[in-house]
Amino acid sequence: MGPAVASSHHARGAPVASSCLQMSGRELQRFHSLISVNGSSGCHEFTRLFDLGYGKFFLRGKTWRAHRLSWTISYGEIPGGLFVLHRCDNRACVNPRHLFLGNQADNMADMVSKGRHFGRSRDTRLSESDVYAIRFIDENTALKQVQIAKLYGVSRNQINNILCGIRWAHHDRRGV
Ligand SMILES: [Zn+2]
Repeated sequence: MGPAVASSHHARGAPVASSCLQMSGRELQRFHSLISVNGSSGCHEFTRLFDLGYGKFFLRGKTWRAHRLSWTISYGEIPGGLFVLHRCDNRACVNPRHLFLGNQADNMADMVSKGRHFGRSRDTRLSESDVYAIRFIDENTALKQVQIAKLYGVSRNQINNILCGIRWAHHDRRGV
């Protein structure tokens, strides 16, 4: 195939880094060599991770979140404005069948950014839907923990606990 067709038609000029990505056999092999299949969950767990648990893969000068790259390898370009989410709640997982596209992130981020009315004191317990939204925002936007904390009016520690706690709870539940 020829060079990538200009993708300027994508909304608001958002970068579509995955556009027309074609990985060589060697690159694919390197990607797959970092996957460990979890027999009980069916998750394809990436073995090299970002701090918060997403798979991390370096490819041609760019550091990818491995689940996004996995989606791209399996299904093609990630449509502009959409986000790659986990059905399995396992951030390290890159099994394409555990991934799906979502478009709620912007709405949520927007909701939260307007959310000073949440008006929480620092150690207020967040609701389950808050926790879901926080995970969603963390997974799908560039917001840092400290920024999410500010939006929700809680401490960064609390955000960190939520993000890590969920991760550990997920793993613990598989009964060791
Ligand atoms: Zn999975």
